[in-house]
Amino acid sequence: MSAIEVTSLKKYYGQLKAVDEISFSLTQGQILSLLGPNGAGKTTTVEILEGLRERDSGDIKVLGMDPWREGYKLHRKIGVIPQGFRFFDKATPREAVKYYADLFNVKVDPDQILREVLLEDSRSTIFENLSGGQKQKLGLALALVNNPELFFLDEPTTGLDPQARRTVWEVITSLKKQGRSIFLTTHYLEEAEKLADEVAIMNKGKIIASGTPQELINTYGSGKRQVMVTDSLEDVFVKLVGTPIEDEGENIDSKKKK
Ligand code: ATP
Repeated sequence: MSAIEVTSLKKYYGQLKAVDEISFSLTQGQILSLLGPNGAGKTTTVEILEGLRERDSGDIKVLGMDPWREGYKLHRKIGVIPQGFRFFDKATPREAVKYYADLFNVKVDPDQILREVLLEDSRSTIFENLSGGQKQKLGLALALVNNPELFFLDEPTTGLDPQARRTVWEVITSLKKQGRSIFLTTHYLEEAEKLADEVAIMNKGKIIASGTPQELINTYGSGKRQVMVTDSLEDVFVKLVGTPIEDEGENIDSKKKK
């Protein structure tokens, strides 16, 4: 069964074809990564799937529901981490989880949830003192509070150093092992290559290629990998889109260092 099923989704802003008749699906229990350069239409697509934006046309089912018409019901079954997640500076992860549980009116064991996202050791550290990776893991913990079947992760590791990125990957992998479905947008091609079962590359409102990372590499790569280990999803992306994906995370990292 599909966690997400999208057929001929269209959203124009005046003359601008932000999302131009795209179709794709996310199989339950898998990770689908939507890749694309800035302005490709990813955020518009994600916001439509989350029920935050109305589409012009097309059929969408998210966990069997229409996200726009059944948003209230859907929001109780999905976990969302927006780009650049933040929380109250003086709140601890434990307090944050309790706060979310109250909002959703559910009973949870905060320590168990923090353990699941490898944040148990920092459960009493206030938000402003958490590292970037710990903040993102708290975002994952909060998205877990309502025990969602489906996660929307919007650039969950942007701005993190490579080690922190890897611990967030570990958590994402364990969420998948629990049978949850994950819709991942990322600017890191290595992230998509490592985590995603399926990748859809979007450019100028269209999906220009899709398949497993290996299928894309086999179809669009130069074939040099067997000889020189050169093809990667990044090579495929550059070939299809013409430019490397803009790596905001690295920019943030390098700005910080200056
Ligand atoms: P990024 O990686 O920069 O977030 P994106 O792939 O998420 O880009 P979108 O934010 O979906 O792309 O934008 C797709 C196109 O639609 C862009 O050209 C953007 O300027 C335009 N756009 C987005 N929202 C609106 C809006 N509310 N009104 C008009 N144009 C919009």
